[in-house]
Amino acid sequence: ITRIGVLTSGGDAPGMNAAIRAVVRSAKYYNLEVFGIFRGYEGLIQNDIKKLENRDVAYILERGGTFLKSARSQEFRTPEGRQTAYDNLKSHGIDALVVIGGDGSLTGAHLFYKEFGIPSIGLPGTIDNDLSGTDSTIGFDTACNTAIEAIDKIRDTASSHDRLFFVEVMGRDAGFIAVNAGIGSGAAATLIPERKMPVENLIERLKSRAKAKKQSNIVIVAEGGKSGGALEISKKVKKFLPTYDIRVTILGHLQRGGSPSSFDRLLASKLGVAAVEGLIHGKEDVMAGIINNKIVYTPIKRAIVDDKEVDEDDFRVAKILSQ
Ligand code: ATP
Repeated sequence: ITRIGVLTSGGDAPGMNAAIRAVVRSAKYYNLEVFGIFRGYEGLIQNDIKKLENRDVAYILERGGTFLKSARSQEFRTPEGRQTAYDNLKSHGIDALVVIGGDGSLTGAHLFYKEFGIPSIGLPGTIDNDLSGTDSTIGFDTACNTAIEAIDKIRDTASSHDRLFFVEVMGRDAGFIAVNAGIGSGAAATLIPERKMPVENLIERLKSRAKAKKQSNIVIVAEGGKSGGALEISKKVKKFLPTYDIRVTILGHLQRGGSPSSFDRLLASKLGVAAVEGLIHGKEDVMAGIINNKIVYTPIKRAIVDDKEVDEDDFRVAKILSQ
């Protein structure tokens, strides 16, 4: 390989910039050329591609978001769209690809590889942590820190007014952020999509906490949960506990932004280098991740299979500490 293309796709995540920087700098280190593809697959189809030098990625390590910009592209889901994307890569002489994004973006990369055989390596860039083949995805740690910081502030109000707060965190169909935030913020309960908690159980938990004279009650709800979002659950609970002063906060997109944590900077930097070195060593159609502190390359089609589960131990710890 001589020319690597790099793009970020899907939802942005803190640390994507650190990953791009690492791809560019390590490619240069190994005397390869690098091209930045702007706005994900959409920019690839529209030929929004620019050669990158080391100086182009100065001062981005500490910035949230992605300077290459990200997008969701309907056209890339069509064979015609992917053909145009391939033609554009060829016109620039790009012979390898690094795709930084979530499971959708990596699904696209896998399909593109199968159709055109361009060596490609995916990097797990999503706050959701819902990719197998890595202990943590780029952005997950920062999102958890942001959620915990926000919940700490909500607790000040919750305890001053004896209120019951339902706080909804992101994570799509995965409860990783919720469980981390639940443990880290001392939540009364954590409701995640992977496990259904009947409202009756939640009510029991809240009543026993009232008996124990707990000063504040915060319930973390993962979006996309089987029992509904925070608003829906709060309404059900209100019916059982009409005297409670209940409030709902949806943290939303603030969890996506911000400067990446040291953990995410390190993870993104290591994975960026691993992507380039993997390509040099002939790896293709794999996702680079870190498991037990070691770089691991997992076939993309295994990484995107939805079998990563919230750690049983984490869930147990959250339960024990919420009594
Ligand atoms: P996040 O987890 O943060 O939402 P994501 O990468 O999962 O990120 P998606 O919107 O699912 O986000 O996917 C990003 C883009 O990847 C899509 O807009 C589309 O261009 C491409 N993509 C996703 N699935 C496919 C598919 N099955 N075939 C081709 N391209 C796809």
